[in-house]
Amino acid sequence: MSERTLAIIKPDAVKKHVIGDIISRYEQAGLTVVAMKLMQMSKPVAEGFYAVHKARPFFDSLCTFMSSGPAVVLVLQGENAIKKNRELMGATDPAKADDGTIRKAHGANIEFNAVHGSDSPETASFEIGYFFPGMEIFG
Ligand code: ADP
Ligand code: MG
Repeated sequence: MSERTLAIIKPDAVKKHVIGDIISRYEQAGLTVVAMKLMQMSKPVAEGFYAVHKARPFFDSLCTFMSSGPAVVLVLQGENAIKKNRELMGATDPAKADDGTIRKAHGANIEFNAVHGSDSPETASFEIGYFFPGMEIFG
């Protein structure tokens, strides 16, 4: 079933000049970029995006990181896009990520881990709507 997922190339990966490498991985895996922008989140925007993690000890640090510089926010579309992108990303902690994954290649640690990907249809729907009005998605 074709579906959509929200991906973010986080500020650490933008600073490392690996935007192109990461987008290549999405496309090589058969995912289509149907929306994309480079943007620097304000801290409140990052807090709203990660509201589900509000009670976690790393929440403030995470939102400071996510608003520390420009990030690429994308909508990817394709068969099983949510699961496929999670597989491309690898485990949250790059030290535990499989070889060949984005986080293994470009993540520094469990916080500065290069990419975000929605984890379910419900979160994908919330996250896509958080950054893109329907008219900016080319499906
Ligand atoms: P994922 O991004 O793999 O879905 P989570 O949703 O659990 O992981 O966490 C969201 C983000 O918060 C992670 O990608 C990472 O940047 C950060 N994070 C997660 N766990 C920790 C932790 N223990 N310490 C610091 N930052 C963390
Ligand atoms: Mg998550």
